[in-house]
Amino acid sequence: MRQSEHFPDSVTVIEVGPRDGFQNVKGEIPTEEKVKIINLLATSGLKRIEATSFTHPKWIPQLKDAAEVIRCINRGSDVVFSALIPNEKGLDRAIENGVEEVVFVVSASDALNRENFNQSTAESLAELAAISPKAKRNGVRLRGAIAASFGCPLEGSVAVERVIDVAKAFQKAEVCEVSLADTTGMAHPLQVRDLLCRLFAEFSDLPLALHFHDTRRIGLVNVYSAWQIGARIFESSIAGLGGCPYAPGAPGNVATESLVYMFHRIGVETGVDLESLMECSRITKEVVGGIDPDRCHG
Ligand code: MG
Repeated sequence: MRQSEHFPDSVTVIEVGPRDGFQNVKGEIPTEEKVKIINLLATSGLKRIEATSFTHPKWIPQLKDAAEVIRCINRGSDVVFSALIPNEKGLDRAIENGVEEVVFVVSASDALNRENFNQSTAESLAELAAISPKAKRNGVRLRGAIAASFGCPLEGSVAVERVIDVAKAFQKAEVCEVSLADTTGMAHPLQVRDLLCRLFAEFSDLPLALHFHDTRRIGLVNVYSAWQIGARIFESSIAGLGGCPYAPGAPGNVATESLVYMFHRIGVETGVDLESLMECSRITKEVVGGIDPDRCHG
């Protein structure tokens, strides 16, 4: 039951809508609308926001304005804005643009790593050896994310040992935290319990975050299962934005407003003002709904 020794009980919510959500929206969201939504999210009490991704625009055209988004958002607040990076080149761009925290993603499934990053899991981990000291030298905080931690749409089930191996590599690279991502929404609550029991035992000093998708409408059940085992850091997406390229039209990430609502109802603090969040959700749905109506499930 590590990571749960807070009183009163509280969780940390990491908003990933501007990255995981927006990147799944078909049709271009104007940069100023992205900036408006991110600024609104930051005023709702969220302290950590994944704002964009420094991925080559050829792969994710929606986030080609990453540098501009980082430049234009209000950074004077006490909110940490992070950016996802798929490789060292992404780190270079993040450094150039003054990003304070980067999230380096490696998939526990070799097939998905090749599909997404055009190299094997081992090759991504070799790149981590270069990324970590460079991030440190430049004063950028490095987080790790393990895609396909709960299963892979290409390979099927993913052995716990492979998740542990990637987490060990991240720990060796001295990341501040590791996020376990249910990239395509394959997790179920008992699997969440079993995986976390193993990982909490194995990594007692490494903060672990959970990133669930609601592809099969059990995202929040998985959140609750993880919380019961002692997880206290959760990633979610405003208005449930996001999606899964392997399940067209399926819901996206767990909706931030649903997650916050549930925690408040069971007496767990989030530091987020639910009313402001609902307003953010409404505005996000208005903006994104006009471009890609399929992408709003919150
Ligand atoms: Mg995701």
